Amino acid sequence: MSLQHAISRLSPKLTVFEPGHVWLAGAGPGNPGALTLDVVSALSQADAIVYDALVDSSILSAAESAELHFMGKRGGRISAAQDDITALLIALAGRKKRVLRLKGGDPYVFGRGGEEALALARNGIPFRILPGVTSAFGAMASVGIPATMRGLNKAIILATGHAAGSDEDLDWAALAHTGQPIVVYMGLKNLETIAAALLAGGLRPSTPVAVIASATTADERILISDLANVTAEADAGGFASPALIIVGSIVSMRAELLQFAREMQSA
Ligand code: SAH
Repeated sequence: MSLQHAISRLSPKLTVFEPGHVWLAGAGPGNPGALTLDVVSALSQADAIVYDALVDSSILSAAESAELHFMGKRGGRISAAQDDITALLIALAGRKKRVLRLKGGDPYVFGRGGEEALALARNGIPFRILPGVTSAFGAMASVGIPATMRGLNKAIILATGHAAGSDEDLDWAALAHTGQPIVVYMGLKNLETIAAALLAGGLRPSTPVAVIASATTADERILISDLANVTAEADAGGFASPALIIVGSIVSMRAELLQFAREMQSA
């Protein structure tokens, strides 16, 4: 069965994109295969797309006729101010465009989707949220680390490492005390501080850690290490953003899963 035929058999109830509306959508971790049908439909209907640096260019190529507005940090450019982004969304909607605000991963997970939704609501602009696969789950699926595993964890913590070491930092020791795995977004540049805070919070130096960069894209890279060594090894390996740090025993499942996968291939 062709892909188009399969999609038509699903007969998804895809919403018509009305002029003057804004859709806040998640483009997933990178690989277009993780887009939802809702987002593909939005790409085909949008008049204007406001996208950030984490949206893969292959995904934008699916939007044939939309005007493209880049609003993000790339190549040393300073990140667009959040106020400028919301002002642009409101202006485009005011001009009766169908406005697709496209973000990496999921718009409501460390994506400022909440702030943008609030600004739209306050200005009386009709909007919808289209979820996407957040990079943590996309990355874990891609590299063979289960997010939850019976016997290993009963919760999973998604944290931001953006403010690590500053006054606004979160309480890493409290997270460490839960004994549950922690996935850190935006943490690479503060990796040393975060690892030290988790060790101070009682995690063992041998606690497994994975660093996954550019997950699900052609540039995907992974480092498997432990809390004691991860900072030096990520530095030596030249790991760069976007990257996630995964801390906890679920990381060690990968070796076992890969071993079975290899045995299956060679059988
Ligand atoms: N809304 C996004 C997160 C935005 S914050 C989501 O749901 O995924 C930006 C951070 O996301 C990056 O610093 C990195 O930690 C993570 N990230 C996004 N895409 C990634 C990818 N393909 N590989 C690894 N990390 C990624």
